[in-house]
Amino acid sequence: MAQTLKDLEVQYVKVFINSIQELNIVDTGSVFYELARWDASIATYFIVTNCLGISVIERCGGDDQKKRILPDCILMKKSICFGLTEPNNGSDATGLQSTAKKVEGGFVLNGQKRWIGNGTFADYIIIWARNVDEGNKIQGFVVEKGSSGLKTSKIENKFSIRMVQKYNFLLLMLYSADIELKDVFVPYHNRLEKALDFASGANNILKHSRIQVAWLAAGVGAGAVEAAHRYSLERKQFGKPIASFQASQEKLASMISSVNAMILTCHRVSLLYQRGKASMGQIAMAKAYCTKTSRQVCSLARELCGGNGILLENHVMKQFMDMEGIHTYEGTYDINNLVGAREITGIAAFR
Ligand SMILES: Cc1cc2nc3c(=O)[nH]c(=O)nc-3n(C[C@H](O)[C@H](O)[C@H](O)COP(=O)(O)OP(=O)(O)OC[C@H]3O[C@@H](n4cnc5c(N)ncnc54)[C@H](O)[C@@H]3O)c2cc1C
Repeated sequence: MAQTLKDLEVQYVKVFINSIQELNIVDTGSVFYELARWDASIATYFIVTNCLGISVIERCGGDDQKKRILPDCILMKKSICFGLTEPNNGSDATGLQSTAKKVEGGFVLNGQKRWIGNGTFADYIIIWARNVDEGNKIQGFVVEKGSSGLKTSKIENKFSIRMVQKYNFLLLMLYSADIELKDVFVPYHNRLEKALDFASGANNILKHSRIQVAWLAAGVGAGAVEAAHRYSLERKQFGKPIASFQASQEKLASMISSVNAMILTCHRVSLLYQRGKASMGQIAMAKAYCTKTSRQVCSLARELCGGNGILLENHVMKQFMDMEGIHTYEGTYDINNLVGAREITGIAAFR
């Protein structure tokens, strides 16, 4: 039987996931940059799968967990997600309230999670919860789809990072989920053995994935500039393309300089990370700088396109809306800057 477009897309995505496993952080970042130039939702899907889900098992899992879980996730036979945020604990992630209690053969988990990308359909849901029997330390547990007491539901009416809700093959992907855990049993072999506390677990993963989010933000900005550049050459006012006016040219030059600055920031922090020399503060500030700058770039690109700039077909509005979600996820702009400022001053402005 002839292959459908869907089959081809599935194959393409599998090859993609498999191949980025082999890349270094600069190369992976460049891939996210390129994906985000076109669509931040798809880039985000891969960040959740690779940099959050798969990375957790690689870095915090034991040998048995790696053998059991990773191959199917890398081949996209199974999907994975990262559940840290809770309804009442977003920025204040270390105050999270979900609990894990030891019982015979494993743990029982209770709590709620919110905004979990891929959470509605993931086969493996990584839940960060306080182990009440080990000093309330925040540890990682792999909850499997279909576990008794596990309930997931899609967050409706999202107006950012939403394109995949319409796109055929990726229809199910990147739904942000609310998750409820009521006495969910997790066998002992599904506790992440190297995630002993917040620093060695969730925070260790965010350090690496925030770099990729910075690359993604740079890509979103680049996509908006390209669309505005194209539009400004086609659109005529006063008998000439709007690109011929000095005010438009200043906008284009300034947007392109901003994209270049984001790329250089991402490249620098990635190289430092590769050499084991990037601090959490440097990474957090890079993420904050790139999402703020990309947001400004998208806004300017929209302005350059005039009224037509708010139409989806001119691409800039989608980039503009997507930047709102990216500016907030993986730590808000404020929190990432405060993480950096804590290193600069030696004073923590938050817990
Ligand atoms: C599209 C999307 C996808 C996401 N995917 C995931 C995922 O896969 N997994 C996951 O675990 N989470 C995910 N998140 C959650 C995300 O990480 C949180 O939204 C984020 O950490 C902010 O938390 P909050 O939304 O509760 O905002 P809040 O913490 O309520 O913050 C609201 C505002 O207050 C500010 N604020 C809070 N505290 C301070 C302070 N001390 N000083 C100064 N300002 C402060 C914030 O900067 C922000 O502007 C996702 C979110 C979105 C929007």
